[in-house]
Amino acid sequence: MTTLIGSAARSPLDAAARALANAMPPAEIAFDVPLASLGRWQIGGPADIVVTPTDAGSLALTLRLIADLGVPHIILGDGSNLLFDNAGFRGVVIRIGRAFDSLTLEDDGVVVAGAGWWVPSFVRHLINAGLSGAVHAIGIPGTLGGLVTMNGGSQRKGIGDNVLSVDVVDRHGMPRRLEHHELGYGYRRSRLQSGEHIVTAIRFRFERADPSALRREAIDILRSRRAKFPKVRANCGSVFVSDPKLYSLIGPPGLAIEKAGLKGFAIGDAQFSPEHANFIVNNDSARSQDVLALIALARSRVYDLTGIAMNAEVRHLSPDGTMRPAHEVAPAAG
Ligand SMILES: Cc1cc2nc3c(=O)[nH]c(=O)nc-3n(C[C@H](O)[C@H](O)[C@H](O)COP(=O)(O)OP(=O)(O)OC[C@H]3O[C@@H](n4cnc5c(N)ncnc54)[C@H](O)[C@@H]3O)c2cc1C
Repeated sequence: MTTLIGSAARSPLDAAARALANAMPPAEIAFDVPLASLGRWQIGGPADIVVTPTDAGSLALTLRLIADLGVPHIILGDGSNLLFDNAGFRGVVIRIGRAFDSLTLEDDGVVVAGAGWWVPSFVRHLINAGLSGAVHAIGIPGTLGGLVTMNGGSQRKGIGDNVLSVDVVDRHGMPRRLEHHELGYGYRRSRLQSGEHIVTAIRFRFERADPSALRREAIDILRSRRAKFPKVRANCGSVFVSDPKLYSLIGPPGLAIEKAGLKGFAIGDAQFSPEHANFIVNNDSARSQDVLALIALARSRVYDLTGIAMNAEVRHLSPDGTMRPAHEVAPAAG
């Protein structure tokens, strides 16, 4: 993108670049940023503008400026569940980072935390405070905002069970509180995935427990994850969501992909991990199309085997800012 700072703006994106550059501290804004540098898969072309607000005020200001100009935006945590497209993104990426790191522990197991917390650090704080309910998330590499949006968890649990409410701002920068019943939680799903709201803080309730027992549980979980998951290559965790029907017929998605003969199979530099087939690893210079082709192939082969269509947990970002579960944009497998 050509930014026109200091001269007449030619398009809404140029106007947004100029308005944001004038309004934001330079450290909070960057242009032409490779999305590959913002996501765990290390895949993706350039994003025109990336804003990393350091407080609720600059977040609200960013949203107001781009809403007025009609420029698309997306919300990013640590990019650990996103497939960026090689064509990049024509809009504004708003990163909710570590600046959103408030933490208040109340007497009755209620915890209020900023959305930028790194999940493993947040869980460690809870363990030290003798609070149980989130230990299953100890190994999940993302922000708290991403976790509550994805209803992430492990051992068939989801963090949504502990969420009382979330503080959000809408696309015009207006703050609001959404209660648990408004969040539409399901397995790895929530209404927050619509992208209408940006989570800035979360109110949770946890149970009291013995910190030493919680520490032992956390160590066991981390040990079992280390044994199972790929260690070296860039990846975005589990690609497909577990499905109870598939589980009772054949097992988790990784086993289904393996039984379909695809464990270790590669297209370009994207490969079903030889260690855990529900992970797609980037061996060096994988492209978004390679990952999408693998997703389509696994879906079709597992469907032939079981009659069940697997759905992706990983979300794909289109150049126009549409974010959808990746199987919805994967081409039909040949
Ligand atoms: C090695 C590895 C292991 C993993 N293991 C697990 C696991 O065991 N269980 C599990 O559930 N997941 C797992 N994941 C996936 C991922 O870590 C989680 O989904 C994580 O919670 C995503 O957080 P994030 O900050 O990276 O979100 P991102 O990937 O940046 O975003 C994910 C979605 O959340 C939205 N979002 C992010 N932040 C906000 C916000 N503040 N407000 C509103 N929307 C927001 C984004 O727009 C996007 O739709 C794993 C990933 C990796 C790489």
